[in-house]
Amino acid sequence: MSKIHIVSNRLPLSIQQEENSFSLAPSVGGLATGMRSIYKEYGGKWIGWPGLAKDDLTEDEILEIDDKLVDEDCLAVHLSKEEINLYYEGFSNNVIWPLFHYFAQFIDYNHDYWEAYKKVNHKFAQKVLEVVDDGDIVWIHDYQLLLVPELIKSVKPNVTIGFFLHIPFPSFEVFRILPWRNELIKGMLGADLIGFHTYDYERHFFSSVRRLLGYEISFNEIHLEDRIILADAFPMGIDYDKFENMAKEIAHKPLSERSDLHRELEKYFLVSPDRKLILSIDRLDYTKGIPNRLHAFEKFLIKYPEFRNKVSLIMLVVPSRDEVEQYKLLKSEVDELVGRINGQYGGVNYTPVWYFYRSLPFENLIELYSTSDVALITPVRDGMNLVAKEYIASRINQSGVLIISEMAGAVKEMGEAIIINPNNEAEIADSIHQALTMSMEEQKRRMRYLQDRIRRYDVFKWSREFIKGMKKVEKLQHNLLAKRITPTVSRELVEHFSKAKKRAIFLDYDGTLVDFKNDPQAASPDAELHKLITALEKNEKNTVTIISGRDRETLERWLGDHKVNLIVEHGVWLKKIGEDWQMLHNISSSWKPTIRPILESFVDRTPGTFIEEKNYSLVWHYRNSEPEQGELRANELKDELREMTANHNLEIMEGNKVIEVKAGGINKGVAAMRFLSDTQYDSIIALGDDWTDEYMFRELPKSAYTIKVGMKKTEAAYKVESVKSVRNLLKELGKN
Ligand code: UDP
Repeated sequence: MSKIHIVSNRLPLSIQQEENSFSLAPSVGGLATGMRSIYKEYGGKWIGWPGLAKDDLTEDEILEIDDKLVDEDCLAVHLSKEEINLYYEGFSNNVIWPLFHYFAQFIDYNHDYWEAYKKVNHKFAQKVLEVVDDGDIVWIHDYQLLLVPELIKSVKPNVTIGFFLHIPFPSFEVFRILPWRNELIKGMLGADLIGFHTYDYERHFFSSVRRLLGYEISFNEIHLEDRIILADAFPMGIDYDKFENMAKEIAHKPLSERSDLHRELEKYFLVSPDRKLILSIDRLDYTKGIPNRLHAFEKFLIKYPEFRNKVSLIMLVVPSRDEVEQYKLLKSEVDELVGRINGQYGGVNYTPVWYFYRSLPFENLIELYSTSDVALITPVRDGMNLVAKEYIASRINQSGVLIISEMAGAVKEMGEAIIINPNNEAEIADSIHQALTMSMEEQKRRMRYLQDRIRRYDVFKWSREFIKGMKKVEKLQHNLLAKRITPTVSRELVEHFSKAKKRAIFLDYDGTLVDFKNDPQAASPDAELHKLITALEKNEKNTVTIISGRDRETLERWLGDHKVNLIVEHGVWLKKIGEDWQMLHNISSSWKPTIRPILESFVDRTPGTFIEEKNYSLVWHYRNSEPEQGELRANELKDELREMTANHNLEIMEGNKVIEVKAGGINKGVAAMRFLSDTQYDSIIALGDDWTDEYMFRELPKSAYTIKVGMKKTEAAYKVESVKSVRNLLKELGKN
């Protein structure tokens, strides 16, 4: 069975230094819980940083730690203080974190950070490569390791790689700000499956892939030259039962066994039975919207004074990254706001904001969740937000109201919550009022739906679904690659070819013999191509035919000196060697004045597009447009043309970033067969890359070697990856 390895910045355990040795304690975080069962079940390793800087350890201590980790199936990537500082604090938390959360003003564009990030990502990849075998699965986590997928794939292409991003992926307009944007995105594309919490992050990622690298994307598949990558949304869940069970346990505890915190909370309610508590829990981070929340709470106290003395906000803020300047500033801002609100609205028996700046043990968290009437979650940007889910899981009697920001990934699964814009303080104030006055019946109705959903898609389901996704993409790639020309097939082909006395070779031009260029006129043949064609045409057993959608003039100018036949405009014209052009079909172009204005209106409205006029067709090119706008307009254009083309017996052809309108009934298949009808060939080879070539693949006899360039679905018998592979094949054929 193939193994599944997990890679994350931190290992799922913490190492405590004791007097003469070290001890390991498992982490309790969501990721550790969700993944632990997986890598153990599938016999893999967990690769990550153990949490201690290697400069603080002797060689022997490092060996001792490594030894202890082996028992847990963990492998350590040891990092120095400097590496942690530059790669983790620096590039991860001071570049990627602010950028991906739309705080571009906080980015520290430090080149040393980038260099360290690359170096440490290499270290991680190297560690993985020490243990991974062909056929294994590697699941890499989060923004600290964006380069690792490609670093593994380039060495071990037969390993299936999954990557999950736990933070948002920003819109292209934000992502493009980064000097290292291309490297990061290429790094991620080393994965076979890329997971995000929400579809929004996924489509932002697609947009960046399209715009920065120009890859084609259909549905959720990214088409690279030699691979297909899947991306999908997998909203991360929590260990629901753990929260529910603890809440039940606490509810059944006798008074004498309750924690100090619990007793304090109960005292609060004793003062008056209609007292209410609002809860927020988050790390101290500028993404969490803590000042907004305090402002909104103040607005609530001003607008609804009848709730003063009756409602408090418990704010648990967990210290985080407190060495970083922005975090220090935020801390002062929050301290000041809490002080001001408490000073202004508090009294002897009433504290409006209970502010804890620390972390609390699990049991205390559940006490907070289960005692608070409202959870107020107001991030200005948050990849998921697990606190929202934990609150829901802890409400064992289905009371309680969740107010959640529309900027948190979790909101996608929380239609029954009260959803707010975190920047709209007045709206938050009113939402607090709505939550506090909501009937119990309504609270329970909403909470039941929320609980059903969050319980079903828990962290275990999340990880299983992701693994299912990796297996699916493995199969998909296997199917797509099934037709790839292997060395054996290649040998058979060459052997068959060399034995044949009369061989027909059909070659499409763009995307087959040459790569696409932004300007179609710039795709003229290079010296290597001329040489390849010359080698083929010199052998009198060969009949080479270039079969293209191009116009007569261009191909004749480019290839007229070769002893090759030319079939152009998708089969309208044929020029046999040494003869004049002949029309294979008698067709008219009287329809052009009707169609041209339609195309012109699309050119006017879509920057970067243009019209190419061929003798019997009109082509709208959109390769240089904004990719998404281009696709959109192409669909619009097809719609608009459909009616016109039916009336004029025209056909719409969709090529690679082109829409072509031409007379119906003509295609490369019909043309190739007409060409073949004159002579008997004992070997036929046809190569082409787009769907206009599919006509040819379909029509040619079964015995023909039909070969698609690229990995998309095809009627051809075989596939090769790229123009380069086509040229290699032609080189072989040229020797025979
Ligand atoms: N948490 C904790 N101890 C605390 C406060 C919070 O372990 O004192 C946990 C909380 O239960 C939740 C996590 O920290 O699981 C915060 O996750 P979330 O997705 O809400 O935010 P993040 O910190 O990942 O941005």
